[in-house]
Amino acid sequence: MSRIVVVGGGAAGLELVTRLGKQFARRREHEVILVEPASHHYWKPRLHEIAAGTFDQELDAVSYLQHSFCNRYQYVQASMSALSRADKQIEIRDANGQISTLDYDYLVIAVGAVSNDFKTAGVSEHCLFLDSAEQAQRAWDRINPLLKADESRQISIVGAGATGVELAAELAKVSNQLKRYRRNAELKITLIEASDRVLPAGPECMSRKVQHALTKSGVNVKTNTRIARAEEGKLITDNGEVLTASLQLWAAGIKCAPWLATLDGLETNRLNQLKVDQTLRTSMDENIFVIGDSAECPQPDGSFVPPRAQAANQAADHLARQLIRMLKGKAMKPFIFNDGGMVIAVGHDYAVGNLMNNKLIVRGRFVRNLYDTIFRLHQKILFGWGRVTALVLLKRVKASLNPFYKHNIS
Ligand SMILES: Cc1cc2nc3c(=O)[nH]c(=O)nc-3n(C[C@H](O)[C@H](O)[C@H](O)COP(=O)(O)OP(=O)(O)OC[C@H]3O[C@@H](n4cnc5c(N)ncnc54)[C@H](O)[C@@H]3O)c2cc1C
Repeated sequence: MSRIVVVGGGAAGLELVTRLGKQFARRREHEVILVEPASHHYWKPRLHEIAAGTFDQELDAVSYLQHSFCNRYQYVQASMSALSRADKQIEIRDANGQISTLDYDYLVIAVGAVSNDFKTAGVSEHCLFLDSAEQAQRAWDRINPLLKADESRQISIVGAGATGVELAAELAKVSNQLKRYRRNAELKITLIEASDRVLPAGPECMSRKVQHALTKSGVNVKTNTRIARAEEGKLITDNGEVLTASLQLWAAGIKCAPWLATLDGLETNRLNQLKVDQTLRTSMDENIFVIGDSAECPQPDGSFVPPRAQAANQAADHLARQLIRMLKGKAMKPFIFNDGGMVIAVGHDYAVGNLMNNKLIVRGRFVRNLYDTIFRLHQKILFGWGRVTALVLLKRVKASLNPFYKHNIS
């Protein structure tokens, strides 16, 4: 019997342990352990909904404890902090700071990435981030009082990638809805981007459509604007312009946590992503695999797998199949990312997508449904179609009875 330890229960890690747990449970062939510090799983592309007060905690959060019990893997609530390859052991730290070790035969690292402040002065002290559910909740705790103010309030969001765009659009929607009840309460949102367009990693015509939709919903989009410094209540651009705001959120770029670059000789790149070969194995150790945002995985054309939810899901699916093959003594096949396009939610009832290798740009309410489908496919792997159908129906009923925001705004 082998022990597979998966570190990180996000978009990639949770799907992997679900698949492996089900596969090995019946004959108790192999042991599957998930190491994850949080108590609940939130699908990261929806964290902006927590920050905007529109996320349905009751229906869309997953308890690791319950999920592990139903899917026959073990859940250890702790963070990985170090690695000993010679002993095949990781060091873990629980919520009380207690340190212990955990042995593995095969280790999978799937700890994701966080925002990159590019060492910009003052950002870590004066901006909020959206890298975890706790941070998103902290943002909502600051945004909620702004929605209750008797005058309009300014929010600055730095970075017009998927995170920044989706957050700006969701906040604009909440603010516009609230104006129906309280005319003076308004969030004035400025989305700041260093490059010359929003979604710089996507195709240009998609950027144009997304920017048009943002402007229409009242978001002030400032492109070609690089932030040089952050201070209390203001951002200073590299040409000296001062942008004041009640709240500043940083959603630009990604990097991995620095501790990944200290893992017993494993190779990393300048973003601290662990280098893997096409079978998702680390370059220095054949018993250690990396998937999701924390991996730098090469593709046959020389590019790297992008840090996206879709890529994390595909890597989890691929690695589950390959680990099963490997444990049967068969060779592992390479992971080839199949880019199914990109869908960006611009508020609760509109989305823009690029499909078929940038050949088709689609937008509208039906594309918003497609965006939701991506999340439902993730849930389907976690729960199966029966429960997902029940969740969708319940959500429809709740949406027709409850206000748009899930928190009381009195
Ligand atoms: C607000 C937002 C919107 C986004 N929108 C989109 C989108 O529209 N489309 C898209 O494709 N992508 C989007 N992304 C990116 C997408 O969410 C990520 O690419 C994806 O979640 C990566 O999956 P992952 O499993 O690698 O990491 P994550 O989903 O981040 O999971 C990492 C897990 O590791 C755990 N962890 C961290 N450190 C440790 C440790 N030391 N020990 C143990 N566990 C640890 C974390 O608690 C977490 O559960 C968005 C991201 C954000 C933040």
